Parts: sequence; C-alpha cells; structure tokens
Amino acid sequence: MNNFGFQFDNTYVNLPSDFFTYQDIKNFSSPKNFIFNTKLAEELGLNIHEIKKNNYVIFGGGQKPQGASFISQAYSGHQFGHFTNLGDGRAVLAGEHISPSKQRLDIHLKGSGPTLYGRRGDGLAALGPMLREYIISEAMHALGVPTTRSLSVMTTGEPVYRETILEGAMLTRIASSHIRVGTFEFASSLNDPDNLKIFCDYTINRHFPELINTKDSYAQFLKAVVKSQAKLIAQWMSFGFIHGVMNTDNMAISGETIDYGPCAFMNTYHPETVYSSIDKNGRYAFTNQPIIGQWNLTRFAESLLPLLHNDLESAKEIAISILKDYQNDYHGFWYELMLKKIGISDFFDDGDKKIIDDLLMLMQKNQSDFTNTFRNLQDFNLLDSSLIGDTSFTNWYQLWKKRLAAQGKKDEEINQLMMASNPCVIPRNHLVEAAIEAAQNNNKDPLESLIESIQSPFKAPKKLEYLNPPSDEFEKTYRTFCGT
Ligand code: AMP
Ligand code: MG
Repeated sequence: MNNFGFQFDNTYVNLPSDFFTYQDIKNFSSPKNFIFNTKLAEELGLNIHEIKKNNYVIFGGGQKPQGASFISQAYSGHQFGHFTNLGDGRAVLAGEHISPSKQRLDIHLKGSGPTLYGRRGDGLAALGPMLREYIISEAMHALGVPTTRSLSVMTTGEPVYRETILEGAMLTRIASSHIRVGTFEFASSLNDPDNLKIFCDYTINRHFPELINTKDSYAQFLKAVVKSQAKLIAQWMSFGFIHGVMNTDNMAISGETIDYGPCAFMNTYHPETVYSSIDKNGRYAFTNQPIIGQWNLTRFAESLLPLLHNDLESAKEIAISILKDYQNDYHGFWYELMLKKIGISDFFDDGDKKIIDDLLMLMQKNQSDFTNTFRNLQDFNLLDSSLIGDTSFTNWYQLWKKRLAAQGKKDEEINQLMMASNPCVIPRNHLVEAAIEAAQNNNKDPLESLIESIQSPFKAPKKLEYLNPPSDEFEKTYRTFCGT
C-alpha cells in the first residue's frame, strides 16, 4: 500500500467517542487530479515521486494511505446567531501528519461524501467552490495571514446537483487542527464535565502546550485564544478581507482562517461591504468582523465556564475580565498594521490613530480602491484622481509626510516597509471568477497564472491587468455563495 510519505500519528481518535465517528470517504467512480500544490507537498515532506506515479490522486478511488484513520468530527455552532448541531457533513479527517518540522497537521478531505452529520446535505462539493477555497487560502498564506492550506483539488467524475448540474470535486485541506469554537460548544452541550475537561486538555496540549500545568491554565487558554483571534481579525481588516460567514463553527481555536465559503477581498472601500448572498442583514459585513469576533469568543468563554471556576458567578467574572481585553488587543494590532501600511513603525499615539481614521474616511468619501490606495501612496501621481482632487486629502497628505519625516528614517527604509505591508495582487473577485470559469471549460491557464501571482502578492505581477479593480457594473452586482 502506498503511503505517499505521510507520517500519520492520529490522536483525535483517542478522544471520547462522542467527538467523532469513523467514516470512509465515498468510492468515487473516476477521481482525477485537477490542481496539485507541489510546493506545499514538499514542505509537508510528502513523496512527490510516489504521488506523481499515482497521477497526483492521493485520496479517492477507495485508497487509504497507511496509517490514516478516517473520521468525521462532531461540532455545533451558532450560525447567524442561532445554535445548531452540525459536524463534518461532507468532510473526513484522514489523519494527523507530522511534518519534517515536527508540526502536527490535519489532512482533511472536503466534499468526501455523505456522513452521519450531513443532515439533508449530499456530502458533496462542486469544483468551482473548491477551486475558490484553493485560490483564496493560498493567497492568504502568501499575505502572511494564518490560514488552512490547500494541497489539491481532484474531480470525482460524478455530478453534483445544485441549481444546475456541476462537476463534483474534493479538496485536500491542511490545518493545524479543525478544532472550532463550535467544537467547544458541542463539548459543553454534552453536559459532562469530564468530557469537557478531556477535550479542553487535548486542545491545550495541541495548540498551547506551554500552558499545561500552569496554575490557571484554562483562563490562560481563553486569554491566548482571545489574543490570537484579535490578531487574526486585525490582519483580515488590514487587507480588506471579508470572511463572509463568521459562524462559531467557522472559527478555529488555532487562530487560522478557516472555511472559505462566501469570502471575498473588498475592492472599493466601504465599511459596510457585504458580498455574501445569504448575509441579508450584513451581520458579517467588513466593519462588523472585529465585534463578531468578540461575540464568537463570548460563546467560546461560555463553554469553558465549568473549567474556569467551581462557582458559576466567579467563573463568569473571570471570563468577562478576559473578554474585556479583546477590544484593546484588537485595536492595538489593527493600528499597528494600518500604520505600517503608511510607513509608520515607531511608537504610535492618538494623533497617529487619527491619521489612519482620516485616511479611511477620505477613501470612503471618494470610493477609493482599498488595495491600490495603500499601494500607491508612495507615488502621489498613481493615486486615484478623485482623491487627488479632494483638498481634504491633499491636507491629509501633507500632514502624513510631516509625520513620516518626524520618524527620522531614510525614505528607502519607509518605502520598503510600505512595499512589504501593501500587496499589489489580491485575488480580486472578477479575476477569481474568470479563472474558475475558464478552468471549468478546460482552460487552466488563467487559474495557474493567477495562482502564480497571488503567491508573490507584494511583487508586481506579470499581467498588469491584475492590478485593476473590476468594472463598476461587476462590483455592483457581484455576490458570493456558501461553498455548497
Ligand atoms: P459551512 O457553511 O461550509 O460552514 O457548513 C455548515 C454545515 O453544513 C457544516 O456542518 C457542513 O458540514 C454542512 N454542509 C455544508 N454543505 C454540505 C453538503 N453538501 N452536504 C452535507 N453537509 C453539508
Ligand atoms: Mg464550516
């Protein structure tokens, strides 16, 4: 049996049986590689030679590499504010692989067939949404944002029935783990303090081993998760990323971005931007993401209450005092990132915060492109003409230049900081859609070319058209969909 270089060491299966079910993937009739991330496979220490001999199909067609232990994970979650029991409805965790750098990584198959948790779903995924997850997760990684990764997308050879008949596909996703806020909500809903403790200890051991055996390890754990989410969401906000479906089951305890469904990078700056077709009330609009982060973390803290203190009121007090730090942590991280985008990296004070706030206000007023405005700030002439024509902006520009000069740094140094903080290539919605559409029509060139560019987002792309925002018409009507 091939094992393709996997070094499986599966620990999730040692948890109480409530947390998972053994689940084989569907025996697809004709699995075929569509796109394979050779660079990532190398980082994972996989055997490319063996994989190539198998036409880049690792899973599917009834294969199970040696040491794999296929399970689906149970979890719950608040979806748009409402609690539901969920679980992997169309996914299987093949196992935990130990990489050459000794990282423990989940090898997860999405679109792998029906499971016990599937409710009414068919357990399947279509090619388009899986390619979308591949492109955007790899873009996020290249931007330096913690994220799950995409190893491959294969087509299954079977149709998927949605509004139309689509080509079936399965994504192989890599993550530090798939433990979600929703998994803690599930653990808590079991009403068994022993189970909750076992699960929490497992997670601490896996993600925050330095906290094991500390005096108040559960409070420290909550604190660490709060901080890592504040940091993650600040990074999203600094790149104009909109997750689109920040339900608690889509928030990973590891601090990685997970579940790329209706997500999108914003073009024209507007804080209320929503692309998701199902987010009718704008719950997950761009500007709401930080506060939704805190809402989700509050659900997380609630699930930990029995571990924080024997007395419920005291437990609540501990949780509240930790959750209170979130706002400050978030603002600290966010201003730091935003100021780097405009070349300021020394201390910052309220005056500096105002420089950022004012710039965003001017960008909103002038409907400026989020990515290009920051990228072009170094060269006045490259800026949007509506911004340049706005006298408030020219005043802002002079104040900003004065502030830069006060840093006493060489222009070269400031330029480098700005170039490294402001991408020029992001996976813009119109580019992603065009690449997927072409790929579905047997032309993979746009997909490959887009992926090559987003892998070096801070470098000028070979195709200069990648720098252009979409047409107004596209931007006005564009909607994203959940990855079903
Ligand atoms: P998501 O919106 O992708 O986060 O999914 C929310 C829940 O719906 C998760 O429990 C998924 O496993 C489940 N789900 C999504 N699509 C399907 C499908 N096609 N079949 C079965 N379950 C699904
Ligand atoms: Mg999900």
